[in-house]
Parts: sequence; C-alpha cells; structure tokens
Amino acid sequence: DQQLLCKYEEDLRKMVSETKELTKFGQVADYIPALAEADPDDVAVAIYDGRNTCFSEGNDEQLFTLQSISKVLTLALALIDHGEETVFAKVGMEPTGDPFNSISKLETQVPSKPLNPMINAGALAVTALIKGGSVDEKLTRILEFVRLLSGNSALTYNDKVARSEWESADLNRSLAYFLRQHGIIEGDVEKLLELYTKQCAIEVTCRDLAKIGYSLAYDGIHPDTKEPIMERDIARLVKTFMVTCGMYNASGEFAIRVGIPAKSGVSGGIIGAVPYRLGIGIYSPSLDDKGNSLVGMKLLEKLSKKYQLSIF
Ligand code: GLU
Repeated sequence: DQQLLCKYEEDLRKMVSETKELTKFGQVADYIPALAEADPDDVAVAIYDGRNTCFSEGNDEQLFTLQSISKVLTLALALIDHGEETVFAKVGMEPTGDPFNSISKLETQVPSKPLNPMINAGALAVTALIKGGSVDEKLTRILEFVRLLSGNSALTYNDKVARSEWESADLNRSLAYFLRQHGIIEGDVEKLLELYTKQCAIEVTCRDLAKIGYSLAYDGIHPDTKEPIMERDIARLVKTFMVTCGMYNASGEFAIRVGIPAKSGVSGGIIGAVPYRLGIGIYSPSLDDKGNSLVGMKLLEKLSKKYQLSIF
C-alpha cells in the first residue's frame, strides 16, 4: 500500500509538470468580474480513493468557487427532495451542443423546458425546486449537503463572488424570467437568482472536490464514514448527466478521450467520479474557448490513460 501511495504522488507531480505550460494558451473567465482576479498559473489536483488519503499536487489549499459544478449537486438534492418525475417535468435529459448560457433552444423547443440540468436554464429550473421556506433556508440545505458529500463541515460560500455574479447576471435573469413566463419555474425570480449565484459561489479546494467525486463514484456515500447520503439511483443518474453534458459542448470529445464522468465550472474547477475507483478534483482557471480548464482536461486525459479509468 505504501508503495502505491508514493506512486500516485509521484505520478501526479509528473503530470502537473508536463501540463502546466498549457495555462499560457487559455484565459480566466471574466464575465463574472470577481473571477477575473484568479491567478491563471494556478494548478492543483487531488485524487481520493477512500482510504483517508487525498494525494495532491500543486496549490491544493487554494479555494475556488464551484460555479457550474454546483449544478450536479443541486440536481442530486432536488431529486432527493422530489423524485425523478417532478424534476424531469421541469427539465429534460438531452445534451444541447450549445454554450452553457444559451437561450436559443428555449424558444424553439416545445414545451419550452430546458434540455438538461447542466446548462444554466436547466440548472435554474432545478434550483427553483430546492425545498426550504426562504433563500437562507434553501442555501443552508445546499451547503449542508455539500458539507456531507465532501466531509468538510467548514465549507461555505464566497459572498464577494456571489454578489459580483448577481450584479452581472443579465443573461441568467433573462433565462429565469423566460422560464417563469412559460410556467417552468414559479415564484420570485430575484430570490432564485440570489440562491443560484450563492450556490455557484460555494468555495472548495481540489481536495474537497476529490472527496465529493469519490462520494458520487461510490453511489453517494459519505467519503469518510461511508454512510449512504442518497439513493444509488440518484448518484447513477447525476453521473450519467456528467458523461453526456458535464463538459459543456465538449462533452462528446471528452467522453472519447477521457471517459470519466466529470463536470467543469468556469472558475476552472473540474470534478471527476470514476465509478468504484476514485474521486478527482482539479483547479486550474485558465480556460479554453468552451469554458473548460485547459490543464484540467489534459490532466484527466493523462490520469485516464495511466490508470485506465475510462468507463467505456
Ligand atoms: N455561475 C455561472 C453562471 O451561471 C456558472 C457558469 C459555469 O460555471 O458554467 O454563469
């Protein structure tokens, strides 16, 4: 075992040094002003295999916000709250091939429900379903859920990033108002945007992400105690969305090259859940033109080849 641990660490170090240069070819997201302050050269990766050791390399203490990665977790929570039938009455199951914040298919689709929960329109419809009497109560429920999945009871959200996104969320506002007009969501849109931007601003390290990935990889168990947190079918379902829609409109190529259920966010985070093997957490905010972390994609490709992690 000891030998295997050293091997993981050695491999990660090598992979990071081989891919680090790629940060030069991308850009940090700047449509949310607070995200533009990220250091484009940061690279951090962690893997967790359930044996209480999280191997990591790079700046693994660096906090970053979940952004779109949160969509996977709110989907699981909404499914726990309501079951499949209610959730999928509001959001579909098909990949789009469009950018994550696209509005175009909403109008041409009948009924106008968002195609899947990983694009912004779909994620807004899912967040609108989270149970709770107020924004605070719903946010607390989401936070508690993410704390359980990561085994980190100190996790919270970054108010500055949430505020920055809330102030510049014209497109998400438009999507949400459109969805309300068409009966997909109900209630106060501004409150929904407040909840959504706070959920996106939950801060983690790559180690936290690796543990959440591990939880999903093992049917939704607590990463330390191994107690079940959700039904197995819910974990299976969210992993399937990660495969078909997790890497924006690069999900098809990613499935071929890497083959790991994964979800990325515009902050530069990527979570990977390798069924019954590993959880992976990556942070590197320099993004390609589709919004995926450049180094992150390459690291996952290398990890997949090295340890034969493709589910296919
Ligand atoms: N909060 C971001 C948005 O809604 C998340 C986008 C992303 O990570 O893809 O625009």
